[in-house]
Amino acid sequence: MKIAEKDRLVNIRYFYYPVLDLQEQDVLVNQFLFKSMAVVFECMKNGNRVLIHCISGISRSVSVAVSYLMFSRRFSLDEALLQVRSIRPSASPNIGFLSQLRLYERMGYSNCPSDYEKFRLELELPEHIYVIYRFPVSNRLDITRYKCKSCRKLLFSEQNVSHKIEAFCDKVLIEPMIWMNVDKDTCSVKHICGAKLGNFRLYGQKCKGCQNFVSPWIQINESAVDKVACLISNMNFRK
Ligand SMILES: [Zn+2]
Ligand SMILES: [Zn+2]
Repeated sequence: MKIAEKDRLVNIRYFYYPVLDLQEQDVLVNQFLFKSMAVVFECMKNGNRVLIHCISGISRSVSVAVSYLMFSRRFSLDEALLQVRSIRPSASPNIGFLSQLRLYERMGYSNCPSDYEKFRLELELPEHIYVIYRFPVSNRLDITRYKCKSCRKLLFSEQNVSHKIEAFCDKVLIEPMIWMNVDKDTCSVKHICGAKLGNFRLYGQKCKGCQNFVSPWIQINESAVDKVACLISNMNFRK
């Protein structure tokens, strides 16, 4: 919200970055978060105080505060949100902002706008759906990971599994991933190495297990991947 010149207080510096509170509003590629964060960072570094505000203090300004905490303290999105909500319970960025903050976290807090340009899925999705490709979550040993049978590269982890079709089914549904090569004619999902991993239904389909409609539907056949089970789960860390 822009404060008119005549209403400004002396000895206070004002910064104004216009952005719409819409879920399809980009805040990464257009640098809104990075520019706002930089201002907060500069002020805090010099021992000054900052008031971050928008009209209702729920979505836009909260996103700035959250991204600043993520960047400066390496908080996860959930930790940063929790922190902000502890003093402002109504804090609630819109879904599009949240998904972009999640992406920011998964991109290792990269402040380079061009890193985010490739993330809009170039499929004919309705414009209001903001779909982002995910990176496989880091190669952590305490979660189950899936590797490409052909090239052995890490594809995804259990954190990217969006739906299990049935308990004993050998197919899983996953989030859109950065390495995907989708063929719109055959609806196949391939790894960048060329290995065929499964298929997708752009507009989703009904799950035979739970009868719910799932969209997007990106199905990976477990026969095409190597499942590397969690190594640490069986060790007992409890006293
Ligand atoms: Zn591969
Ligand atoms: Zn289901």
